[in-house]
Amino acid sequence: MSAIRIDGKAVADTLLAEVGQDVAGLRQQGVHPALAVILVGDDPASDVYVRNKVQRAEAVGIRSLEYRLPANTSEAALLERVQALNGDASVHGILVQMPLPAHISEASVIQAIAPHKDVDGFHRENVGSLSLGQESLVPCTPAGCMRLLRTVLGEDGLKGLHAVVVGRSNIVGKPMAALLLQADCSVTVVHSRSRDAAALCRQADIMVAAVGRPAMIGADWVKPGAIVIDVGINRIATPEGKTRLIGDVDYPAVAPLAHAITPVPGGVGPMTIAGLLANTVKAARQQTGH
Ligand code: NDP
Repeated sequence: MSAIRIDGKAVADTLLAEVGQDVAGLRQQGVHPALAVILVGDDPASDVYVRNKVQRAEAVGIRSLEYRLPANTSEAALLERVQALNGDASVHGILVQMPLPAHISEASVIQAIAPHKDVDGFHRENVGSLSLGQESLVPCTPAGCMRLLRTVLGEDGLKGLHAVVVGRSNIVGKPMAALLLQADCSVTVVHSRSRDAAALCRQADIMVAAVGRPAMIGADWVKPGAIVIDVGINRIATPEGKTRLIGDVDYPAVAPLAHAITPVPGGVGPMTIAGLLANTVKAARQQTGH
């Protein structure tokens, strides 16, 4: 029997519709949720991400402010821009698109964003709250993975399962592990120094792959009946001389074994922007007391 193909696009569309309703409700009460997006430099991939975020925000009725700063912008000038947005009560969410040019410290910029406007959930205050199990703005990609898991397992269905997260980055792996723990999973985190990563993964009822290595996770990494969430987005060359996106999981090899699996594209990816906009609405509610 082949796996359930988890349709991230459909789940994201449902979330976006909910966000749109929330925005409409807030606007009726005189609050217009607003998201500021700052892009430094002209990295083409970042340009596409920022354009998508701004377009999606506007499509659900969120006001968006776009700041495109030249690649030679100084760290001080960027911090000044962030401070101005921190102090602007009409702006509820601030996102600085990463990566930043090498002369700017990403950590300094992240910590400069007011925690209650940090819709990426990367500020140490939000990271700390998440690890304490307290209310916070949660990073969008792991939050999206949790929502996808709940579409398969239901609200309480994660309890007691063994989840293995492959990858320990601050933006995906670590917050993912924290969220799974909060949902009462037993959590193992696998990384590049893990001994016998495949054997650890074979114990997983739930596997979340966030590595950045095309099709690294093959059938011999997966327990039959597992739920597999593939965060990886890797661009590879095709024999026809074009490129295409694939995940960290070898989908054709793993899908026949798994209970459910996300495709790439069309799995986790669409959830990330939807989560960002949900965080913007949450931030607007918190800041305005609605
Ligand atoms: P990072 O490069 O920051 O982290 C990768 C992690 O994978 C590291 O913790 C690294 O371990 C681990 N790793 C690398 N090689 C191995 C290996 N052979 N075995 C086990 N672990 C390994 O990546 P990100 O977390 O930022 O992103 C991961 C992937 O997810 C990328 O493909 C990225 O494009 C994608 N992504 C997708 C998003 C979406 O919206 N769908 C959003 C964000 C990311 P170590 O710490 O030891 O180096």
